[in-house]
Amino acid sequence: MSLVKELDQRHLASIGEELHRFARELYPICRSISGDGIRRTLAMIQDRIPLRTFEVPTGTPVFDWTVPKEWNIRDAYIKAPSGKRIVDFQKSNLHVLNYSSPVHTTMPLSELKPHLFTIPENPDWIPYRTSYYKEDWGFCLSHNQMLALEDGEYEVCIDSTLANGHLTYGECYLPGRSTEEVLISCHACHPSLANDNLSGLVVATSLAQILSGKDLRYSYRFLFIPGTIGAITWLAQNREAAGHIRHGLVLTCLGDAGGFHYKKSRRGNAEIDRSAAHVLRHCGESTEILEFSPFGYDERQYCSPGFDLPVGCVMRSVWGSFPQYHTSADNLDFIRPLQLAGSLRICASILDVLETNRLYRNLNPCCEPQLGRRNLYRSIGGDMVGREINARLWVLNLSDGGHSLLDIAERSGIPFSTISEAADLLCESGLLAVIPCNDGTPTSRGEASHESEATIYRASPSSTGSSRDDGS
Ligand SMILES: [Zn+2]
Repeated sequence: MSLVKELDQRHLASIGEELHRFARELYPICRSISGDGIRRTLAMIQDRIPLRTFEVPTGTPVFDWTVPKEWNIRDAYIKAPSGKRIVDFQKSNLHVLNYSSPVHTTMPLSELKPHLFTIPENPDWIPYRTSYYKEDWGFCLSHNQMLALEDGEYEVCIDSTLANGHLTYGECYLPGRSTEEVLISCHACHPSLANDNLSGLVVATSLAQILSGKDLRYSYRFLFIPGTIGAITWLAQNREAAGHIRHGLVLTCLGDAGGFHYKKSRRGNAEIDRSAAHVLRHCGESTEILEFSPFGYDERQYCSPGFDLPVGCVMRSVWGSFPQYHTSADNLDFIRPLQLAGSLRICASILDVLETNRLYRNLNPCCEPQLGRRNLYRSIGGDMVGREINARLWVLNLSDGGHSLLDIAERSGIPFSTISEAADLLCESGLLAVIPCNDGTPTSRGEASHESEATIYRASPSSTGSSRDDGS
């Protein structure tokens, strides 16, 4: 199975259009860490993939936290002394400080001002602000709009409820041959913001659609959760399931025009870290690998020391590094169909590595087998001659039971997909055999020890140029 090959049979542009269309459908909903906005969002994802939703009651202790009151909102506005609505929740849900407690009163501008939030550096944009864990109320508006406010009495109304209820999250579990799992997690709590994080929601949903019904090596668990409190709640209530997570990715900020970033897991050299770094290195776009840090998205929780799960984070532009972050400018124009499709392709490439990374044994290890008489010293395309034959030689040489295909791809500098195709071909020719795991699932070695490689192998890692085969 190659997810990328399947994607490449379709037009990337039409995949991108589909992803963007779903983002457009989700965009108007006023989401938060609880309430009907996230429920409606999960229901729309449920129309596409087999998603189970869970409701965790307010007051439930989850490690050092407590599930908060549920927040719902119907309307909010500020009316000028003239009686005109000058800030209107119906026009943008970002106008309300997310999780605002209800209020309906009149007050002079001087009293209202401490409740107003703006971005002076970008005076036309509305900021996104929250107050989840401290009861407060407020409005967000453009700085220019605030500067235009005149003295007088203002009517302020936030028609919200903050009451005992539930925290809602969604989970899509796709069983594979192994009970070991790949976790794909994204936050679903931001209101009308596109890159952070409708882009993650639509890419994750599409990945689940692609994986659905396939013969999978790993089981896959997709989580659509409110940021921070959702991951903490899931981990608190699923400690046993968390023990099955072998690899994981947090998906966010995947629709902007920036190059890819991969933030490593706390472990730093987990198979997911190496797989993602390898895919990014060969993707042909500008990319950057970031070391783990204990701030960011929900990898913070998955990588807390009590769990230390191998979960990294895939992004295009890094949160907080682009001016549109957490503002009304992170809108549907800021995310682009082709960028969304490209992100889906990168995620699929990483999963392809996880699905096919295995240990093999060379069945003819004493000197090189004669590839020429097996018709393996011919390549399909002219430009690829060197690389395809080199890939076969690398696979034969390092398939001693101690090097996975990913080890070989890293060491040779050849893309994993080429190495994997070489292994398939060599297996068909009877020169190579996969080494099975005890549980019947073909094995892979995750965290490689390159020290041991260095002592055993002294061959040059160079892989460019065509190789010599004296047997041809
Ligand atoms: Zn955010």
